[in-house]
Amino acid sequence: MTQPAARSLTADLTDQVALVTGASRGLGRAIALELACNGARVACVARDRGALAETVEAIHAVGGRAAAHACDVKDRNSVEQVVDQVLAQWDRLDILVNNAGINRDTLLPGMRDEDWEEVLTTNLTGTFLFCRAVSRQMMRARYGRIVNIASVSGMIGTAGQTNYAASKAGQIGFARSLSQELAGRKVTVNAVAPGYIESEMTEAMGELVLGEVKKRIPAKRLGTAEEVAAAVLYLVSPAAAYVTGQVLVIDGGMTG
Ligand code: NDP
Repeated sequence: MTQPAARSLTADLTDQVALVTGASRGLGRAIALELACNGARVACVARDRGALAETVEAIHAVGGRAAAHACDVKDRNSVEQVVDQVLAQWDRLDILVNNAGINRDTLLPGMRDEDWEEVLTTNLTGTFLFCRAVSRQMMRARYGRIVNIASVSGMIGTAGQTNYAASKAGQIGFARSLSQELAGRKVTVNAVAPGYIESEMTEAMGELVLGEVKKRIPAKRLGTAEEVAAAVLYLVSPAAAYVTGQVLVIDGGMTG
């Protein structure tokens, strides 16, 4: 189980409630843990109940508070139910991190309709559904922090990822637009765009491809989930009140 590596960055999230999608593993688990370590109660959302329970256990192990919510982010009823449950349990929702995401990489001529639909509905429609479900509460509370976990692929494109890149560019455009709708209510909306980060998603690329990828990264290594979590912590912190509609790139210099 990963732990937040360096505790040099801290924020006071005491009494706040966060909802992190895709919290059953990888980046989402690291983000949930980071927010919990800084005082937030964290609603952990994903489909795999067993893996979600491990995230909650890890948070409890460091003295944090968390609850698991099995939910498919593509399912609008389920998304609305989860938000209702969180509000019923904890009476507030301050932070939303749209991290759940998948890829189905293939060159365009071979891309099946389901490769397109599954990626777009998970990555982009899921983001829309959760943002819509939390926006009223955040507007009423006159406080909120929303972060979409996008990707550099949505900024510079990647061959074999037209579906994924379109969904990630969509998450960025969505964040920029929503930031303008909500800024007056003290709700910020930003995107984080990671490059290549160690996780099951990148492991699936295989050693050979990853070796080639590392050569193209000025930092000569993949990033870690904890490095992404630290960036998210900053954006959701009270200190980032004047940062909205932005994209924070974390890619070891790849797109610099
Ligand atoms: P993983 O594949 O390790 O984890 C993906 C997470 O999303 C899991 O928790 C999974 O949970 C959840 N998820 C997938 N589909 C759904 C769904 N329909 N409903 C609910 N939850 C779902 O990926 P990473 O941790 O690597 O990636 C996390 C995010 O970061 C993604 O959005 C990805 O695009 C983005 N990203 C990752 C990069 C990397 O290099 N790793 C680089 C750039 C961006 P479950 O299966 O239990 O539902």
